[in-house]
Amino acid sequence: LAKGNGKSGWRRYQSDLHTAMVQRLEMRTALHEAIEEEQFVLQYQPIVELADQRITGVEALVRWQHPSRGLLGPFFFVEAAEESGAIVGIGSWVLREALRQFARWRAENPETTLRYVSVNVSARQFRTADFADQVRRALTDTGARAQWLLLEITESLVLRDAEKVLADLEELRAMGVRIAIDDFGTGYSSLSYLRQMPVDVVKLDKSFIDDILTSRQQHALVDAIVTLSHNLDLAVVAEGIEEVGQRAALDAMGCRYGQGYHFAKPLWPADIPELTVAVEEPTVRRQATV
Ligand code: C2E
Ligand code: MG
Ligand code: MG
Ligand code: MG
Repeated sequence: LAKGNGKSGWRRYQSDLHTAMVQRLEMRTALHEAIEEEQFVLQYQPIVELADQRITGVEALVRWQHPSRGLLGPFFFVEAAEESGAIVGIGSWVLREALRQFARWRAENPETTLRYVSVNVSARQFRTADFADQVRRALTDTGARAQWLLLEITESLVLRDAEKVLADLEELRAMGVRIAIDDFGTGYSSLSYLRQMPVDVVKLDKSFIDDILTSRQQHALVDAIVTLSHNLDLAVVAEGIEEVGQRAALDAMGCRYGQGYHFAKPLWPADIPELTVAVEEPTVRRQATV
């Protein structure tokens, strides 16, 4: 390598660094503007009973309707929002919007099969001093019942700062709000933590589900986690089900709930109600049972 090359390499490095800093600043500003101008929107992905594919809940998933770049998924901004702290404002909007929407679905269709809305809570948002109060106010303001809300947190949140987090979790549960461990299996998951954590639901990460049909060991591991969770009175939701074979295998293990493209992708709110109408038993079947 010529000397000149090294030097221009260094300049390029400096200029890349500068660009990265500018981009980061721009991102910060853009995220705060996005909150003020209400550029965030929610899609909802059905969570179904594996036995009959009936929708029992939905997970709210945030998207950024960017003025020039179009619809952006969380991959493009959630990490930056975590770093800058913007996630606190975004998360607070997400919680209220999801509850408002859910209360409306319930009011418009009392026969709906929808029992809960699941909302992701980032560690930074959960750690804000008055998080449980924020949730209480959001419920009151939207007219939603605490029983309709499932908060998704990650294992790492519970592992750090355990005492304060545990106290907040207990307070939320005392209100009637339920708690799920999201992406279970990707963190430092020690199965014994499940016993100590004040949670109601375990969501098995997609990376855990991917290989259950091809790896006997992976199948055995998921089977064991499902059994253990049930013995600890935890409900299990399998994430990222893409194939009918995975659905069948999980159903056979006794896993009751699932989520994934095999059932439905994240959908716009208008598409949810028609999927959640309690379907009447077919007449033929009714006659047969008389
Ligand atoms: P997550 O909470 O584990 O959500 C599930 C993600 O898996 C969603 O991606 C969903 O679209 C995707 N997914 C569901 N089924 C399948 C499948 O069968 N195959 C594949 N390949 N993917 C599937 P999405 O919407 O891009 O969200 C990614 C992550 O962003 C979420 O993972 C969650 O950690 C985070 N996120 C989403 N919304 C929020 C929010 O409002 N607040 C916070 N703090 N984080 C959020
Ligand atoms: Mg989630
Ligand atoms: Mg998840
Ligand atoms: Mg996941």
